[in-house]
Amino acid sequence: MKNWLEDLQNKLQLWMQGRYGLDNLSKSLFILSLVFLLLSPRSSIFNLMPLIIFAFVSFRSHSKDIAKRQGELRAYLLFTGKIKQVWNLQKNKIRQGKTHRYFKCPNCKSDFRVPRGKGKIRISCPKCGHQIIKRT
Ligand SMILES: [Zn+2]
Repeated sequence: MKNWLEDLQNKLQLWMQGRYGLDNLSKSLFILSLVFLLLSPRSSIFNLMPLIIFAFVSFRSHSKDIAKRQGELRAYLLFTGKIKQVWNLQKNKIRQGKTHRYFKCPNCKSDFRVPRGKGKIRISCPKCGHQIIKRT
């Protein structure tokens, strides 16, 4: 039994040599396919979604075009990074809403905060230096 398992493990390692394998994008897509599988109503077009996603995950993990798969991963990480950034900003606005006020720079569109209760002040954007006059 042990020999059979070791033999199987060796064959799998040989099969996966030079292939891309699993990354965070594949794991997220796999979880998404499970969610589709659990939530999709019976006998609808959505029943095909988990299968299509799983086929794509399988294709990615067995692919030998590693540069292209890494490009997809990079785009995915960039996308999720932006979502996390927006999420964290909203979370901070709620947490620090009583002590700080948030503004968006009209020049570079970046968000920044200033302490509340300082009256009408001139604020310099920390990124581009553009100045605005606001009541805090
Ligand atoms: Zn700015």
